[in-house]
Amino acid sequence: DYSILGYHPVKIGDEFTSDISRYRVLRKLGWGHFSTVWLCSSLISGQFVALKIVKLGKNYTEAALDEISILRLLQEDDKGYPVDDSPVVSLLDHFTIQGPNGTHIAMAFELMGENLLHLIFQNKSQKFAAASQKEPVSPYLLPVDTLRLIIFQLLQGTDYMHRHSVIHTDIKPENILITHKAEISGDIFPLKIPTKFQILPSQPLHQSTSAEEPIEIKVADLGNATFCNLHLSDHIQTRQYRAPEILLGHSWGALADVWSIGCLIFELLTGDYLFEPNLGASFTKDEDHLAQIIELLGVFPSMEYAQDCERYRKYFLDNNSLRHISKLKFWSLESVLEEKYKFDMADDNIKLLCDLLLKCLRYDLSERYDCGSLMAHPFFKKDAKFDQRECDELPNNNFNVPGFTCEEQAP
Ligand code: ATP
Ligand code: MG
Ligand code: MG
Repeated sequence: DYSILGYHPVKIGDEFTSDISRYRVLRKLGWGHFSTVWLCSSLISGQFVALKIVKLGKNYTEAALDEISILRLLQEDDKGYPVDDSPVVSLLDHFTIQGPNGTHIAMAFELMGENLLHLIFQNKSQKFAAASQKEPVSPYLLPVDTLRLIIFQLLQGTDYMHRHSVIHTDIKPENILITHKAEISGDIFPLKIPTKFQILPSQPLHQSTSAEEPIEIKVADLGNATFCNLHLSDHIQTRQYRAPEILLGHSWGALADVWSIGCLIFELLTGDYLFEPNLGASFTKDEDHLAQIIELLGVFPSMEYAQDCERYRKYFLDNNSLRHISKLKFWSLESVLEEKYKFDMADDNIKLLCDLLLKCLRYDLSERYDCGSLMAHPFFKKDAKFDQRECDELPNNNFNVPGFTCEEQAP
């Protein structure tokens, strides 16, 4: 039951009025912990929008008001910037809806297509189907060119937020949306419900390097976003995408988003979570998470790093080994990709991606790359060859990002 959980009970055909428009509900698009999201048409302009109706409750309402002010801050800056070109999903309208149990905040967004989680699922099941037919299957989940486009735009969108002193703090596949290319046409009465709300069919998997129609994505869900100089919470990020500095209680900043991007890239590459921590009989989820991170990336760097972490002593002994997990199985990213996922490590793309990923996953925040610097990574040059020196020499200008390692006054 929607209303018990605090969601507004919505029926197809319901109408909601704002100061500037009147919206009719056509169908459900998605939902999250904060809201349900509905495809609506504006009865005034004929435009289709995604209407996000936020749950009841003080915390949800406050988060929604923050989301609105952050989105407006991001939008105000680029007056005249066409909505279609913004790397962040645009807010078009907001108002309140009177529900049976109270007042809900509603936000009308530009209409997007599916989220990246859907894309991952769809390609995973295609891959399984092909494998069960004994067809040759590429280790890549998505064609490399698609992957390149998605990652580049994700970096671009996140960099845009960071340069506006906004940290997303909840980057994950569900929150990255694909621009839909479906033609929406028809009269408003009666409404033609668009049928083609799906991603473009992807290339057959064995043609993993061939180009397809360029995919376009935008960053969505700024419901947990925060300012670089005023963190709204220290308990941030969805588990699998949570950075070690958050787990350990180290100071954090915009580069926490970059860690999440690293986790997301791995998922787009393989279809699996990079880290998937579980609770054990003798250890917590956080401890399992730290163990998995160490197994992949090695021990935490220096005593200096540890000293800056509020919870380092809680999880680690004096010799820097974990208190409750003794047996670690070190497995480098390269070996995981080669041995578990059967990537050909002579493939330039995979070597470049591996380098890109590791630049997102540096423990030391002064060494972790920012999005803008990563956009210059050789992986984004078409047909680039892997060159260790070129990768090593990629400039890291993370210090130009306001509040990149900690909560600080924006310059
Ligand atoms: P979370 O639990 O991640 O905090 P949330 O309640 O804040 O989620 P959103 O992430 O904003 O909600 O939206 C939930 C889902 O609704 C998205 O994953 C997406 O599938 C769909 N959705 C959101 N905005 C749009 C949009 N503009 N166009 C199309 N679909 C959308
Ligand atoms: Mg969401
Ligand atoms: Mg949210």
